Amino acid sequence: MSLTALSNLEKSQVQEFVNSFDTVLTDCDGVLWMESQVLQGSPQVLNKFREMGKKVFYVTNNSTKFKKDFVSKAKNMGFICDESEMISTSFLTANYLKEKNVKKAYVIGSGGIAQELDRVGIEHIGIGPDVVEEHFVNYIKNLKLDPEVTAVIVGFDEHISYLKIMKAASYLANPNCIYIATNTDENFPVNASLVVPGTGSIVAAVSTCSGRKPLVLGKPNPYIVEALMKEHQIDPKRTLMIGDRCNTDILLGTKCGFQTLLVLSGVTKLDVALGYKNSEDHDENEMVADVYLNKLGDLLNFLD
Ligand code: PLP
Ligand code: CA
Repeated sequence: MSLTALSNLEKSQVQEFVNSFDTVLTDCDGVLWMESQVLQGSPQVLNKFREMGKKVFYVTNNSTKFKKDFVSKAKNMGFICDESEMISTSFLTANYLKEKNVKKAYVIGSGGIAQELDRVGIEHIGIGPDVVEEHFVNYIKNLKLDPEVTAVIVGFDEHISYLKIMKAASYLANPNCIYIATNTDENFPVNASLVVPGTGSIVAAVSTCSGRKPLVLGKPNPYIVEALMKEHQIDPKRTLMIGDRCNTDILLGTKCGFQTLLVLSGVTKLDVALGYKNSEDHDENEMVADVYLNKLGDLLNFLD
């Protein structure tokens, strides 16, 4: 199947599709909720999948919260979820750097990264507003880098500033300094007239300035699900990836050999998805989901 509308299929065909997977990986924002608003029907669909004996995991590129807080958010909205079923990019970043024996990191990011680094005992500097209030040239002449920093993390940071980009790039001038980006989502759709820069915009600035390429741990890098796949012995062919963003969620699914379901309740709109399908560019074809729905809750009609 290639971008087939599930809602146009017979009930028996949709049930056949549902029977073809026994693990579900789902994106969070745009599929389960929009910021603090649950998307109607999503908890019921995922909880129904569990009743049918399917495993469910939640995979978010959002680095702004402590993983435990995403679990509480999901539970409060009616999703069944425990900590082992939630993966977030700040959680993965902290675990990755712990494995690399990093003791101190410079962070462009927010509280979620701080809490995850605290959890694994990695010191960090950089979080919070950082702007030059005096004469800029005088200020930077006296600027000292912290010699203990051996990694730079770039995540979502509403306080991003010229000074932060400068500090990150300066640490990265040392080729041994590890460079991690939590994700590269370009922007967020808040409403039709606002374009809100996402982490990808900040990563682009740091990468341009430093001349370095980050290791991006979030979707579409299969790294985000590799540990989970091993631990739960997941068969990719019998796994469904659900997402609202083709260049992260659906591309991850394609790369991993999962089946893919695009929901139109978030970032990618149908005309864009159709454009990927009709494109002659192989990279764009990889972002085409097998099936789509307007929203996940629409599946409920087919599940009783
Ligand atoms: N990054 C930030 C800062 C966000 O606020 C969001 C969505 O709210 C995302 C990334 C994307 O998250 P997800 O992968 O759950 O769609
Ligand atoms: Ca999303």
